[in-house]
Amino acid sequence: MSRRAVVIGGSVAGLLAAAALSRSVDEVTVIDRDELPDGPRPRRRLPQARHAHVLLPSGRDAVEELLPGADVRKHLLAAGAREEPFSGTLDFGPRGWSRRRPTADDALLTCCSRDLFDWTLRDAVVRTTRVTIRRGEAVALLGSSGRVTGARVVTDGGEAELGADLVVDASGRGSRAEQWLDALGVGGIRTDEVDAGLVCASRVFRVPPGARAFPLTRVGAEPSDGLPGRSGMLVPVEDDRWLVTLMGTRGGEPPADPADFLSFALDLRDPVIGRLISRAEPLGEVSVSRRTANRRRRFEKAALPEGLVVLGDAVATYNPVHWQGMSVAALGARALDRRLRAGDVNAPGFARGVQRAAARSVSAAFALGSSQDLWFPDVVGRAPSLADGILRRGLGRMERVAASSPPVYEALRAVTMLEDGRGRLLQPRLLLATLRGPVTKPSAEPPLTPQESAFLGAVGSPCH
Ligand SMILES: Cc1cc2nc3c(=O)[nH]c(=O)nc-3n(C[C@H](O)[C@H](O)[C@H](O)COP(=O)(O)OP(=O)(O)OC[C@H]3O[C@@H](n4cnc5c(N)ncnc54)[C@H](O)[C@@H]3O)c2cc1C
Repeated sequence: MSRRAVVIGGSVAGLLAAAALSRSVDEVTVIDRDELPDGPRPRRRLPQARHAHVLLPSGRDAVEELLPGADVRKHLLAAGAREEPFSGTLDFGPRGWSRRRPTADDALLTCCSRDLFDWTLRDAVVRTTRVTIRRGEAVALLGSSGRVTGARVVTDGGEAELGADLVVDASGRGSRAEQWLDALGVGGIRTDEVDAGLVCASRVFRVPPGARAFPLTRVGAEPSDGLPGRSGMLVPVEDDRWLVTLMGTRGGEPPADPADFLSFALDLRDPVIGRLISRAEPLGEVSVSRRTANRRRRFEKAALPEGLVVLGDAVATYNPVHWQGMSVAALGARALDRRLRAGDVNAPGFARGVQRAAARSVSAAFALGSSQDLWFPDVVGRAPSLADGILRRGLGRMERVAASSPPVYEALRAVTMLEDGRGRLLQPRLLLATLRGPVTKPSAEPPLTPQESAFLGAVGSPCH
């Protein structure tokens, strides 16, 4: 019998879920309410696309696995995306600058604009799969509390009912899955939230002459100093541009005014990003986003009907400073793919199995983002517990030991890159190594190459 699937949302989670489905389902339709451009150009209803995005290696590998033969990585690099070795980045953490030690098999972070990434994915799906992408807005689920049988969609031609053996909700952070399920008589979906009131402000700059080799640079906040967390990142993207995102938790929000953007960057715990952009030509205005809470809806714990899977930001959103959302979306689609290889979409428990499998990377990402945000002032959600405090101190020590212990470094890297769950950090030999030390004090000065030093030296210390 012919099988059909409807995917709501044609962004990272939706496109990759559709790619997975197209291998075993006869007809796969992606519905997106936005006008999707025919090229790497901005679109209206993806506000986060104006901010810096970095793709983790785990996300990149999942994309390659889900779109074999599409050469997404090759196309991204050909269009100017950069791959930054993780340990070659300039990273100012809570205690100072991390050491840089690029190695041949280092984790590579993919840096490009969301416009380029989304277009490359869309193009790959269109080129290499049988997926149909249609414009339309999903407004309801069809079916009953026992089984979802399709979605009601509003298109230019009016309202239509699209029947499906499986509906994937990949409609992002604004997903109305809970309301739609409620209308079918399914409730009780728990939400976990840690909202530090993070605001992101971003601006694009042309890379100034002599600064092209500058790597991905991140200046983090210190969650335990009792002050609002202010942080920033400078991401080299295609066409010799830097995409700079400044962030601040409640009470320390970055400005929308271009004149204050530089001052905010110079006032971070280290002024390096401000110094770099002080010499760079801005290309456009400052874009601000306010909806950045760590929020997780526990669909995997609810009695969801058969025939419905929720993926990507529709399940959970995270503090963007850890670069996780797109990779979690890709890993969720990979979980769907693996279940499809093992069984039919109509098999009893199929959708619940996918939801549970997809929850693993959601848990890892949510734990990382929320465990740090808990400590900022005026957080909405839960208060830090004794266990949170112990965990934080333990992780802090692990980070300092990692500078001189390759196994501890490797384990921390794998967990933050979503290659492994946090359980890996509890391995006895790693705990022992953490207790024994030695503890390396991070440097107060950025570990610059001579070329980078020369550039920053020429910039000097700009005034606010
Ligand atoms: C400031 C900021 C910075 C970030 N930085 C990073 C980063 O560095 N690395 C990273 O991995 N992640 C980052 N993220 C997270 C990342 O943007 C998301 O995790 C990712 O976009 C999730 O993809 P998605 O497909 O689930 O949802 P989205 O990308 O939000 O897409 C949802 C899609 O659904 C469509 N849609 C919505 N409702 C409907 C409907 N009813 N009917 C039809 N279509 C609908 C929308 O038009 C859209 O195309 C960042 C987020 C923010 C806010």
